Amino acid sequence: MVKEKKGVRLEHISKIYKDPKTGKDFYAVKDVSLDIEPGTFVTLLGPSGCGKTTTLRMIAGFESPDEGEIYLGNEAINELTPNKRDTAMVFQSYALFPHYNVFDNVAYGLKLRKLPKEEIHKKVMDMLELVELSGMENRLTNQLSGGQQQRVALARALVVEPSVLLFDEPLSNLDAKLRVSMRTEIRKIQQKVGITAIYVTHDQAEAMSISDKIIIMNGGVVEQMGTPQETYYFPKSEFVADFIGEANFLKGKVTGTDEIEINGIKIQTNTGKLETGSECKLVLRPEGATLGESGIMPCEVVYSCFMGSYQNYHVMIGDSLVKLEEYNPKKKKIYRVGDKAYLNFDSDTVFAL
Ligand code: ADP
Ligand code: MG
Repeated sequence: MVKEKKGVRLEHISKIYKDPKTGKDFYAVKDVSLDIEPGTFVTLLGPSGCGKTTTLRMIAGFESPDEGEIYLGNEAINELTPNKRDTAMVFQSYALFPHYNVFDNVAYGLKLRKLPKEEIHKKVMDMLELVELSGMENRLTNQLSGGQQQRVALARALVVEPSVLLFDEPLSNLDAKLRVSMRTEIRKIQQKVGITAIYVTHDQAEAMSISDKIIIMNGGVVEQMGTPQETYYFPKSEFVADFIGEANFLKGKVTGTDEIEINGIKIQTNTGKLETGSECKLVLRPEGATLGESGIMPCEVVYSCFMGSYQNYHVMIGDSLVKLEEYNPKKKKIYRVGDKAYLNFDSDTVFAL
């Protein structure tokens, strides 16, 4: 269905806006370089205001970068208007025509391109089948559920056979359950078509479940790009570690190659490029540690709560609070508030930043 798979490359892209309050210029996006491979699904993830939409709109051509160059395949596209870019955008609000039926909404872009009537009919019907809306052609879009409207929006974007599909928080108007099923749906359709997709969300679970690669943004810059596993197991910064899943940070000092010291206790862990003698933080995922009668670090339980699939503990190690999730609690000793215990973890499930 897709003519040719094309990747997207951003080279040192910046966008400067004027802050309406102070009147001062600021970087909404700063020196962002990205290489998005053809046919992959990548997500721009980060908190509100970090520059996701601005980045996406520059790729679509609704905004132009103040610095840098954007490439689609091998073509530099900074100077092209949105309709010349071979990209299509799916918006959060769907942006459907309410007085048009489903067929005409999907056919819109093809009619603009003045394709023959029979060809339009075939393409639209094929597309409606792909998004599982066959039989709905004559419905007005305001007679559709949110999920169905989202499918129409997706069909309308795909029918013009763009090389790159862009999504800006497309599921935020749907209820939680539908959001989960639609993200699987979007991913399935993207894989079927084999199109390059760039997806914006502030929801880390959504990003994890849908993406080949996640790009984590913070304050207009890219903190890290990697697979969901890479960003979870090897976050490059405290921000990423905290934004992707939950993390505990224990202050310590690097005392040698792959060795740190916390509260006088030496711990073997991956110290990466950290220099001996420097301050560091041990990153510990809640599911990465357990409590026992003996172990690596003494602690005191200050919170203990049964959550079904896991026991949720908060323990104090010196003056640091650490949150833990012990899975399969039925099989384990349950510690109570006030109990003294020891924290245990494998050195390959923790690392220092
Ligand atoms: P996100 O999509 O990650 O929530 P945006 O890309 O929309 O973030 O915005 C990034 C920053 O740029 C925010 O501080 C936002 O207020 C600001 N911004 C966005 N659009 C404009 C604009 N047209 N004029 C001025 N500031 C803007
Ligand atoms: Mg946004």
